[in-house]
Amino acid sequence: MVGRGNSIIIVGGGASGVVLAAHLLKLPNPDLRVTLIEKRPHFGQGMAYSTLLSAHVLNVNASGMSAYADDPTNFARWVLERGLAKPDQGPFYAPRSLYARYLKELLDDLEERERATGRLRLIREESLSISPTSAGVEVALANGTSVVGHLAVLATGHDEQPGAFQGRAIRMGSDADTALDAQAPVLVLGTGLSMVDAFLSLEQRGHRGGIIAVSRRGLLPSPHRKGNPIKLDVADIPLGTQLSYFVGWFRNLIRENQKAGGDWRDVVDGLRALQPEDLAELAVLGETPLRRAYQGLVGHPSPPHGAGGL
Ligand SMILES: Cc1cc2nc3c(=O)[nH]c(=O)nc-3n(C[C@H](O)[C@H](O)[C@H](O)COP(=O)(O)OP(=O)(O)OC[C@H]3O[C@@H](n4cnc5c(N)ncnc54)[C@H](O)[C@@H]3O)c2cc1C
Repeated sequence: MVGRGNSIIIVGGGASGVVLAAHLLKLPNPDLRVTLIEKRPHFGQGMAYSTLLSAHVLNVNASGMSAYADDPTNFARWVLERGLAKPDQGPFYAPRSLYARYLKELLDDLEERERATGRLRLIREESLSISPTSAGVEVALANGTSVVGHLAVLATGHDEQPGAFQGRAIRMGSDADTALDAQAPVLVLGTGLSMVDAFLSLEQRGHRGGIIAVSRRGLLPSPHRKGNPIKLDVADIPLGTQLSYFVGWFRNLIRENQKAGGDWRDVVDGLRALQPEDLAELAVLGETPLRRAYQGLVGHPSPPHGAGGL
């Protein structure tokens, strides 16, 4: 990417934007310029990590949440060094606000380190548009100014605004989430991890009205557990096949493993244990078919004290 130009604009300073900036700035290129643009008051938070509720925890164990692919225990060490978890306590599902702190410290360190080099620039402003120029791109900002670079990366995450035709539905934690009568009945659309988040928020607010969650399949998230990952060889995986064939293969593998007394998580963990480069073709297929395949059978994996609290 840097070969195409030294000046990179990252639009969106949530988790992906911050982590991408950190990876780019590892390059020893003195001419590199990274501009990170974030419309929220804080970088590294986004929708997922801006919650302050301690019950809103990561759905991945600390050992799987490092910001650096080449240093997989970076977050787990950060947690231990601050005495936030004990070395012998087993899987630790940190509050998501703690993860925001981790990303903030990471960015603070980068800012400090790059102050003398001028390679990192942080802009707190909304980006409105990106236009091509003869030398690269121009990103227009809501304050009427613009930033130019060789290329821009979109890291804007999920759309936080409710869809135009979604009527009375709101996203919990958004600006539209105003005070609610504690007895009011609440309908939650979906039964995945965001439903668990919504339930925990309502519970913490002392909500006493009925809460009904609806979904197509009615499956609740299934808590992670320490399992027995199956051993998979890359040659066993039908990489490069049609999507429908791949999904069918994956579902069958889960069923066979369940019949043999195993668990769906053993199959997912078996797949996760393979090296990323081995799964490059899977990345082309995307995460969605995999998620569909196992969510259709079992629901979404959740931290033990998330769905377990329901
Ligand atoms: C409730 C919830 C819980 C989650 N929990 C986990 C978890 O435990 N573990 C995990 O790995 N993943 C989790 N995820 C997935 C999570 O979203 C991703 O891991 C990660 O936050 C995605 O990062 P992102 O940078 O793509 O998006 P975000 O973190 O959402 O960041 C996008 C950023 O772009 C900014 N932005 C958007 N538009 C503009 C614009 N026009 N101009 C300037 N800035 C803009 C936004 O303000 C935001 O800060 C969760 C997701 C949700 C919704």
